[in-house]
Amino acid sequence: MGQAIGAATANLDTNWGLPSFIGEPFDPSAPAIYNMVWGDWGIYRAGAGSIIVNKKGKRFANEASAYAVFNRAFGNYATEEPGFANIPAVFICDNDYATSGLLPGQKAPQDPAPDNFFVANSLAEIAEHFGIDAAGLEAEVAALNANAVQGSDPVFHRGEKHVDRAIGAYRPYKTELANPVLAPIATPPFYASLYVPGTCGTNGGLKTDEKAKVLNTKGEPIPNLYAVGNCMASITGGQYCGAGMTVGAGAVFSWIAVRDALGIA
Ligand SMILES: Cc1cc2nc3c(=O)[nH]c(=O)nc-3n(C[C@H](O)[C@H](O)[C@H](O)COP(=O)(O)OP(=O)(O)OC[C@H]3O[C@@H](n4cnc5c(N)ncnc54)[C@H](O)[C@@H]3O)c2cc1C
Repeated sequence: MGQAIGAATANLDTNWGLPSFIGEPFDPSAPAIYNMVWGDWGIYRAGAGSIIVNKKGKRFANEASAYAVFNRAFGNYATEEPGFANIPAVFICDNDYATSGLLPGQKAPQDPAPDNFFVANSLAEIAEHFGIDAAGLEAEVAALNANAVQGSDPVFHRGEKHVDRAIGAYRPYKTELANPVLAPIATPPFYASLYVPGTCGTNGGLKTDEKAKVLNTKGEPIPNLYAVGNCMASITGGQYCGAGMTVGAGAVFSWIAVRDALGIA
């Protein structure tokens, strides 16, 4: 409606990213609301004893990074075989992980594994079930396991930043680990679920000035039209600076817009 009266837009290709567990079968054409099982703010992804891999069995990001940051790694396009290289991905954890905290959707650790999880005694079965390259997965888990004992992650640096460890602290910390968000994935059974990009909102929309007045494509305010919240193009240009970025900016610009509309300086 804004565009119909000449409003400019910005950030339409970005969103407030939230990686999510999803049920099977993976159907990108189905409305997302029916597909989505559980958004992962990092509570699960950053837990020691878990890994996220693509169809080649390869990790593609630091699993302990913030949700909007990890979500961007799904966007890597495969140049050798057309398509998104990391969609859908697969989350895998071992029994130590599963019994030391909750899986998404569980209310207590003794609850049955959630419906979207496939449980198997070997990584090979997980690879077969999800169509992952089995040798690639075995090699990636072996590398992660060897490095986890040292507490290091030479490729993605999981657990090196304070923010990684803060995200991982949502699960019970294992104090014996050299790196609190990194542990070998070694104890069967293994639990696995499809894992895909998700969102907790759009951050593109109508372009505004500092008073939340909507601008036209020449940069001039359109009289009596304001935009706030997620229908306003975010002042961060698509970056999620931290929790509260969306509600915080929405509240502040609502306050500014109402004051401006009432003529209060
Ligand atoms: C699970 C989850 C957790 C989140 N956690 C956080 C957090 O911790 N911190 C944070 O800052 N943000 C968080 N967010 C994001 C935040 O909730 C949203 O960005 C924010 O609520 C958007 O506010 P809004 O007013 O722009 O839009 P909304 O809250 O979506 O409001 C839009 C309203 O417009 C109504 N509407 C739609 N169409 C019409 C129509 N045609 N006519 C009339 N009314 C209409 C809708 O019913 C709705 O009430 C979270 C989001 C989700 C999904």
